[in-house]
Amino acid sequence: MSTNSPVLEIENLSVAYRTPNGDVNAVNDVNLTVYPEEIVGLIGESGSGKSTMAYAIMRLLKGDAYVTNGTIRILGQDVYAMDAAELRKFRWEKMSMVFQSAMSALNPVMTVEAQIIDTLLNHRPNMTRSEAVQRAEELMEIVRIDKRRLKSYPHELSGGMRQRVIIAIAIALHPRFVIMDEPTTALDVVVQRSILDQIREIQRVEKFAILFVSHDFSLVAELATRVAIMYAGRIVELTDSKSLRPGEPHHPYTEGLLRAIPRLTAEEITIDGIPGTPPNLISLPTGCAFHPRCARVMSECQTTRPKRVKTLYGSAECHLFRQGTEG
Ligand code: SF4
Repeated sequence: MSTNSPVLEIENLSVAYRTPNGDVNAVNDVNLTVYPEEIVGLIGESGSGKSTMAYAIMRLLKGDAYVTNGTIRILGQDVYAMDAAELRKFRWEKMSMVFQSAMSALNPVMTVEAQIIDTLLNHRPNMTRSEAVQRAEELMEIVRIDKRRLKSYPHELSGGMRQRVIIAIAIALHPRFVIMDEPTTALDVVVQRSILDQIREIQRVEKFAILFVSHDFSLVAELATRVAIMYAGRIVELTDSKSLRPGEPHHPYTEGLLRAIPRLTAEEITIDGIPGTPPNLISLPTGCAFHPRCARVMSECQTTRPKRVKTLYGSAECHLFRQGTEG
């Protein structure tokens, strides 16, 4: 595998939830590629399918959710073709995940040190305990926590510190690809900012790729180099984040998200939200699922689902775009 081969390749992925009324598609025919050392944002409102997609990539779908179609390859290996032992080894060593809620991701009755050492020794049977302690101390330094905190239990740490511990565990084995699922959502703005700066710094030094899942459009646009925008289970636009400025040709949903970023004027904060609410996945609108909320809806939008076409900055599913240009 060459160094520029993708770390993540998703082809035609669909994920459904079994319900008493039949399957509901939460992720519908999604394609996405992430390259080494890239930060790709995955953005969408609640219920858009972004977290389901993240869990599907890690093969952590629970309960009634299951992959109905498509393939997910990480570092060239089909995640769903691995047996349990291969998957256990692959997770945390090659791909890892930073979960949204640090409190539920950490074991409340184990010290931070015990949890980091556990992860290390489970995957590196030849590592000695003192080597593991040394690596734990190194990781604390990387995430800027005093190493004396290794002896603390999760409840003795602030929310920001707990999230840093989760990041430390996720990168402990030098994975090439890390999914971050709303890693700063539960934190206040100041702590959020400092953790984001740290994520950027750690990523630059450790050189892994990130799929950063969030509902916060401005945050993702700032952090990621490319952004995938999900709506009703589909990636409706994939775009270079530098192009995310008002006036650039984007999918109307992306334009709506851009308008919804609060703007501070001399007298007031202005926010233009997108009218309406995301559709119910059980009964999606016909044609383009965004059509009931779209300011630029045309008659064909109500009957025909738009195909994915290339745009100036990536690709999009919208009838306004013709191959290569905006129509
Ligand atoms: Fe709007 Fe039509 Fe484009 Fe859908 S396909 S986003 S309804 S213009």
